[in-house]
Amino acid sequence: MDITLVLGDNPGPYTGAGNNTYLISGKTPTLVDAATGKASHLDALAAALGSAELTQVLVTHAHPDHAEGCEPIAARWPKAVFRKMPWPERDDRQSVEFQPIADGELIPVGDGVLTTVHTPGHAPDHLCFFDEKDGTVFCADLVVLGSSVVIPISRGGSLTQYLESLRRVRDLSPTRMLPAHGPVIDAPGPVIDGYLKHRQRREDQIVDVLRAGVRQPDAIVERLYQGIRAELRLLARESVLAHLIKLQDEGRVRVDGEEWALS
Ligand SMILES: [Zn+2]
Repeated sequence: MDITLVLGDNPGPYTGAGNNTYLISGKTPTLVDAATGKASHLDALAAALGSAELTQVLVTHAHPDHAEGCEPIAARWPKAVFRKMPWPERDDRQSVEFQPIADGELIPVGDGVLTTVHTPGHAPDHLCFFDEKDGTVFCADLVVLGSSVVIPISRGGSLTQYLESLRRVRDLSPTRMLPAHGPVIDAPGPVIDGYLKHRQRREDQIVDVLRAGVRQPDAIVERLYQGIRAELRLLARESVLAHLIKLQDEGRVRVDGEEWALS
């Protein structure tokens, strides 16, 4: 596939250096993710398209740094069709009409075909796109090199689903992953294994802390993330809660109000 990285140019605390979007050139010029619609992003996209017309935008999930650019892209390239897996409450926030994509669908892009892989966990509608020919996976927010992915437990996140999604993509034996943030991942297998190990270690630590009689999420954060910066504390709390809910789903912990304990 003929893939051009087009930078979203939207750096920030949650987006790192900003979002990556990918233009796949060919018969069906397709953009993977819309970023936020910065003028510099649209100009870079226009330059990458040259004389071609953008016909399709695949949105990996409804988080604003991936979807907000849909409206300005639609205004500039009126022939483009926008597609994503539905997440009705969130999709309503964008003015464009999304055509639904299902898990396992084969989508013509550029001069090839991508297979959709539903990978919930970070978001319920999260999709990866897999090029079976060369093993490339557009992995969106499933994996970001050098950082761990947020599981927003109060907004549709699920650690249980996220771990299943990581295993599902690893089982595809991808040769490289193109993420929505950060650099290309050239050795996906070991990176995914590292992610799984990291979450397992965190879970073991939380079980140990519970065993020591610490019961409240904030107190668990205090123990596990000593000296954490105030602005990251909420994220750490979400992560601890994500683990507690996974353990609860497995029947290994129970909750009474704000108090968590091993079963
Ligand atoms: Zn996201």
